Amino acid sequence: MEEWKNNIRRVTPYVAGEQPQETDMVKLNTNECPYPPSPEVEKVLKEVDVNQFRLYPDPEATQLVNALAEFYQVDSDMIFVGTGSDDVIANAFQTFFNSDKPILFPDITYSFYPVWADLYRVKYETPALDENFRIRPEDYEKENGGIIFPNPNAPTGLFEELDTIERIVKNNQKSIVIIDEAYIDFGGESALKLLPKYKNLLVVQTFSKSRSMAGMRIGFAIGNPELIQAMKDVKYSINSYTMSQVSIQTGAAAVRDRVYFDETRKKIMETREWTKKALAELGFTFPDSKANFIFATHEGWDIVDLFEYLRKKKIFVRHWNQPAIKHYMRITIGTDVEMTRLIEEIKQYKEKLCL
Ligand code: PMP
Repeated sequence: MEEWKNNIRRVTPYVAGEQPQETDMVKLNTNECPYPPSPEVEKVLKEVDVNQFRLYPDPEATQLVNALAEFYQVDSDMIFVGTGSDDVIANAFQTFFNSDKPILFPDITYSFYPVWADLYRVKYETPALDENFRIRPEDYEKENGGIIFPNPNAPTGLFEELDTIERIVKNNQKSIVIIDEAYIDFGGESALKLLPKYKNLLVVQTFSKSRSMAGMRIGFAIGNPELIQAMKDVKYSINSYTMSQVSIQTGAAAVRDRVYFDETRKKIMETREWTKKALAELGFTFPDSKANFIFATHEGWDIVDLFEYLRKKKIFVRHWNQPAIKHYMRITIGTDVEMTRLIEEIKQYKEKLCL
């Protein structure tokens, strides 16, 4: 009976944060940037020649790769681009995690990693973070088939200093270590600095947060040319044309506008810092985030109740119903106006609790 069903690959998919379509909402649930992309992006769009859509895009995305090479001062054969860092990381899983030994990533981290591991049938172990949500580098000093974690980590926002990263990369030269730097532009220091020393290191970044282009789907990896070539070989064995010509062109324009990039991330960091103070005054505690979000809890408060309350007020934040983090909610940093509205609503909530 319906034996064909036995051949279906069964997976439990990653659940992305919701994209509500409310008017007048404050959307602080998926770590997007509240500011528009660089004005240079709009200029490119205004000049797009639709006739070029007849043609396949450049599979090498040369324009974008060259802009990134210039920005990060690396050779262009050290760069791989894809449709968001999710695409880049999925490719890296397929390309690099092929050992019988388990790969390692922290127990509290980006919840997509176990999904890719299951999809590609890669064994994995999840060393526990310490009681302050810190990575213990000694946990990564065992036989493994590869290592991946975000820095700053998600959803905690905690940044690990480069000497911790270096210790992990250095002590694992038999495997590939991927540092997922989706949130690095908000005050952390990139592991790109370590690339000249370590051939087993791959750094992944995205345009979705600090470059305000989540909707364009642009991510990239930087590593030694041998790693990058291996990723390209896998990509060209699946689909060469993942990046649209428009993504390539607008992405390149965004990267070239360093001034706008620096202004945007500075604004986010300033807003984050005053929001931390305001949340602390209201009795919240949180790891000291270097990302564009704050992972906050409140002793004595029911976080799910607050989450629901905010939702009714059209303020969307993120909550995970997992034992280790169920008392926390992750709040993306929006504009000053949005964060003021959040704080005001939380004050109202507090008043209601006291009645
Ligand atoms: N890595 C981490 C740690 C993330 O939080 C995200 C965003 N969900 C991504 C990668 C993927 O982002 P994107 O595909 O938009 O580049």
